[in-house]
Amino acid sequence: MNKKEIKLSNGMEMPRLGMGTWFLGENRSKDAEETAALRAGIDAGIRLIDTAEMYGDGRSEQLIGRAIQGYDRSRLFLVSKVYPHNAGRRKIFKSLQQTLKNLQTDYLDLYLLHWRGGIPLEETVECMEQLVKEGKIRSWGVSNFDTDDMKELFSVPNGNHCVVNQVLYHLGSRGVEFDLLPWLKEHNVPLMAYCPLAQAGDLQKDLLQSSAVKEVARIHGITPMQVLLAFVLYKENVIAIPRSGKAEHVLQNLEAGKVHLTVEEYARLDAAFPAPRKKIYLDIV
Ligand code: NDP
Repeated sequence: MNKKEIKLSNGMEMPRLGMGTWFLGENRSKDAEETAALRAGIDAGIRLIDTAEMYGDGRSEQLIGRAIQGYDRSRLFLVSKVYPHNAGRRKIFKSLQQTLKNLQTDYLDLYLLHWRGGIPLEETVECMEQLVKEGKIRSWGVSNFDTDDMKELFSVPNGNHCVVNQVLYHLGSRGVEFDLLPWLKEHNVPLMAYCPLAQAGDLQKDLLQSSAVKEVARIHGITPMQVLLAFVLYKENVIAIPRSGKAEHVLQNLEAGKVHLTVEEYARLDAAFPAPRKKIYLDIV
């Protein structure tokens, strides 16, 4: 990864590497370990944390809220997501209020529509814009939007104020490279990669066993998991949010963000897990 930050279309700077938090906060017995993992990340310089009202019904947000106590809020970049069925005039303001309360903060850096639902995009955009005006969120974006969804979004009033699209992207799932990633790049919208580690290889078993991945890991003296992360961060328009409940892994992920893959190493990974040459609909979990 060359640049540590990316400039969003509204002028804000966003870190390219953050911490995901799906499943964190769901098991009280892991509270201390998970809090320590998040704090180790922040101490080491990771400022971006991704969560959602959905994760553990707010318990992930609450864990983060406890973990960030004592840190300078203005240094952090907090992202949360609203359920599609809450992303309209009737519910979004209450949803955000609860998210802010859980996180023990008075604003979000970025608020995402978690996936597309039944509420018209115009209405969601209007609400997001109102929240920006009120200072409750600094920017907004979407998640799980394919190319056609993005085009539709950009056709509604202020739809082009969307600053990121968070989608599934890892070495074994590269469908986005065919048309979504180029479209996003053209419109100055970074892709925020979720499941960048393919959920520790669970989403695709052969990744970590691959000789290409192992060889690149050996050259850099890193683990195959770190290679997966370095791969998604190779492209400059990409942000990644690996999740770990363990401090040791969080720090490894930070190190992986500093790895520079050579053109040859990238080509080796690319050949082992080629991107599709035709449109493939967006992968989701
Ligand atoms: P990831 O691809 O980040 O994989 C997480 C798994 O990898 C965990 O089992 C973790 O275990 C393990 N792991 C992390 N770092 C290391 C390491 N250095 N070495 C070995 N194992 C490691 O999966 P997620 O599904 O969590 O995706 C990342 C984030 O993206 C989510 O947490 C969430 O914030 C977001 N997301 C968004 C979605 C959306 O719809 N918008 C959907 C899915 C995810 P351990 O804890 O033991 O380290």
